[in-house]
Amino acid sequence: MSAPTTFDSIPLWKSWVLTNLQTGLLVLDADARIVFANSWLLRHAKMKSDDILNRPLMDVFPMLKGGYFQAMFEQVMRNGFPVLMSQTLHPSPFPLFLPNAQRSEDRLLRQSIRILPMSRSDAALAGQRYTMIQINDVTSTIVRERLLKAQADKLHRLANIDVLTGIGNRRFLDESLANELSISVRARTSVGLVIFDIDFFKQFNDHYGHLAGDVCLRKVAEALLKVCRRPSDKVARFGGEEMVAVLPSTDLAGCQQVAEDVLAAVRGMRIPHVSSQVASIVTVSAGVAMSEAGAQLSPAELLGNADRALYAAKAAGRNGVSCFSAQHGHVTLA
Ligand code: GH3
Ligand code: MG
Ligand code: MG
Repeated sequence: MSAPTTFDSIPLWKSWVLTNLQTGLLVLDADARIVFANSWLLRHAKMKSDDILNRPLMDVFPMLKGGYFQAMFEQVMRNGFPVLMSQTLHPSPFPLFLPNAQRSEDRLLRQSIRILPMSRSDAALAGQRYTMIQINDVTSTIVRERLLKAQADKLHRLANIDVLTGIGNRRFLDESLANELSISVRARTSVGLVIFDIDFFKQFNDHYGHLAGDVCLRKVAEALLKVCRRPSDKVARFGGEEMVAVLPSTDLAGCQQVAEDVLAAVRGMRIPHVSSQVASIVTVSAGVAMSEAGAQLSPAELLGNADRALYAAKAAGRNGVSCFSAQHGHVTLA
């Protein structure tokens, strides 16, 4: 067993504890010279005690100069209170490495550091004020936290996705609509909402089968994604064969244009639908509603208005867009 230096006179069992402690310890005198380093620290710093003893801390570890550690250390020396340095903000100030890591970028230890000055009474007994620096390796905690966060993010994404089409699901729609409406109240902006519904889709399923129906739903979702390209646009499957686009900061004319473009994109796919009473291809109807700046509509009111507009589009012969008029409280055909 290699006994720690300068503490040779302490009992063997205490020396054994210091040697086998799985945390780094540095003790500095009142001039910030290193008077003790335990085995863990020497091993992870790849240094020998003769290289560092009685040398100023900042000469042994020059990379600490001018950084957050030095500022904290000087603060402790000034006011005599201990500090714990946040490992998330300042993860690796000391050049301490995992002894067996393969890749160099994996080798630097993530560190949680405590700087602890001696109390005045202990300093009086010791003849000067010593300071202890304790360094814990928190690499595995950080790796685990990162993994857990990645898993949580993945679950959150999955919980918000419609499995059939890959666009947002009802939960995603509820969340993003409530979110966009509350942002719009604060920012005094508008939110547009369009509900799309496939025309005579029941007949499509009856004629081509449910699997073909599912493929058709995916294609309509694709068209929606292709048209709603602004980063703030949100698209979701509302239920059954209805899909919704939430269009923040887009005026009525813009929303109408998006709706028309989606209808045109679906027609452009020329998906056969021989039992449709509109055309021999799949077509879609759309209802548009707006929450104007300062209107403070609830998600249910906005969805209800868009649904009324959709109903009007169906009644007007399908394959078209209708808009709900806020001023008159009724539906106008686009
Ligand atoms: P309209 O033009 O008035 O919209 O007529 P429609 O037949 O499309 O009527 P409606 O919108 O009520 O149609 C709902 C149909 O959508 C019923 C069902 O056959 C079909 N549908 C709903 N969800 C799914 C799904 O997940 N997969 C498939 N293949 N079909 C679905
Ligand atoms: Mg429907
Ligand atoms: Mg339908």
